[in-house]
Amino acid sequence: MSDVGIVWLRQDLRLADQPALAAAVAQHKQVVPLYIWSPNEEGEWAPGAASRWWLHDSLASLAASLEGLGSGLILRQGASLEVLEAMIEKTGARAVYWNARYEPIVAAQDAKIRKALAERGVEVVVANGSLLQDPESIRNKTGNPYLVYGAFWRAAAEKSVGAEVPAPTALAPLPKGLSSDVLANWELKPKIAWDLGLRRMWRVGEVAAQAALRSFCGDGIAGYAEGRDIPGRTGTSRLSPHLHFGELSPRQVWLAARRSKAPGAMTYLKEIVWREFSYYLLHHHPRLTNEPLRPEFKEFRWEGTPSQLAAWQRGMTGFPIVDAGMRELWETGWMHNRVRMIVASFLVKDLRIHWLEGARWFWDTLVDADLASNTQGWQWTSGCGADAAPYFRVFNPSLQEKKFDPDGAYVRRWVPEVGTAAYPKPIVDHDRARFAALKAFDQIKKKA
Ligand code: FAD
Repeated sequence: MSDVGIVWLRQDLRLADQPALAAAVAQHKQVVPLYIWSPNEEGEWAPGAASRWWLHDSLASLAASLEGLGSGLILRQGASLEVLEAMIEKTGARAVYWNARYEPIVAAQDAKIRKALAERGVEVVVANGSLLQDPESIRNKTGNPYLVYGAFWRAAAEKSVGAEVPAPTALAPLPKGLSSDVLANWELKPKIAWDLGLRRMWRVGEVAAQAALRSFCGDGIAGYAEGRDIPGRTGTSRLSPHLHFGELSPRQVWLAARRSKAPGAMTYLKEIVWREFSYYLLHHHPRLTNEPLRPEFKEFRWEGTPSQLAAWQRGMTGFPIVDAGMRELWETGWMHNRVRMIVASFLVKDLRIHWLEGARWFWDTLVDADLASNTQGWQWTSGCGADAAPYFRVFNPSLQEKKFDPDGAYVRRWVPEVGTAAYPKPIVDHDRARFAALKAFDQIKKKA
């Protein structure tokens, strides 16, 4: 047993059910909780503006919790391997602990860091803290990864998720002489205050995340199966950013939902497994972030114009449910799942703008921007992903609005000028756009 172990924190900003932290605490007298800010290492999918906003508060909250236990959080900016090596040098640590990440560029770098540290004689312990199951542990009878959600769900639901790992109740003080960056100097918060809506809507950090989970499993979950498709109501858990940043583990959410025994619990568990499936697909198909899973879609003829893209981004398309969703996103950093599907279908099929344009906009504006779920959501809606909505099923925004916002509460909230002269005319004719999209689809079908 060596005296010091480093815990490299990433998308696991919590103390409870934190396997990397628990393993380090069990092995070392002192642990050094370390967060490294190195956005360039994530390439074009470095955290966007809304994610940075969340990250700031999540780190501040984690630092306060760690201080409450007698320790603290060391913040450092720079290349991950260099920072880790400097920290090992300074503390004499013999081991580094982290929870696995699955974004392709990050996973590739982790493998290199692991090798470099092993060559220095430093032990690396990699735990699974962000998924219910390791993606390597689920395969079909022929040993290949599943491509259909239903079969994946059945395989995943059969496996035990194990028990929650308790949070440490006290930690040894940090080794003397370790300096930390000042969080504010990372400038994660915007210089121009566009974040009022985000501040109003969200409480960030592990304590707030656990309260949100308790509240949802206490009363929200019972109506989930019926309410989850109605964006004008608070029918879903809104736990997605907490899950993305690891303020909650999926196991905590899974076990709490199971314990609730509410009628909506099974439907909810299936959604949690959509998150798993997204990570599973990304792990087994690392090119998915930028390429369609179904290769024939590489040939698809995209048509939309920059001004149409701008109208979509600003919520000025003249289609009320689309505009409501895009404005909700801009104001709060979140959008209801049903509306995410509607706005994505509109961009890809009515405007025929490449799904990556939509994925990039979501990436910058969502507080729950998550490379696995975002990629999967866009490919699914576009019809080019695994087990996707067929391309020829083109959402009609007006019918979707009638069905899922029957009393107009959602549209009125986000587009108060709807029905007045101040509201823009539709930027496309839906029936014609649908016809043109199907024709373009026929062309790639013939080639496939
Ligand atoms: P709930 O309905 O309460 O579901 C509970 C949890 O299950 C969610 O927090 C989430 O972790 C998971 N989940 C639910 N639905 C899905 C789904 N379809 N795919 C994957 N996980 C799911 N989700 C993200 O977390 N990050 C993204 O960047 C993201 N981008 C998306 C882009 C598009 C085009 C689409 C159609 C969906 C996207 N989703 C994304 C999935 C989904 O919309 C959100 O997870 C959900 O709206 C979050 O709200 P909630 O926590 O209230 O969900």
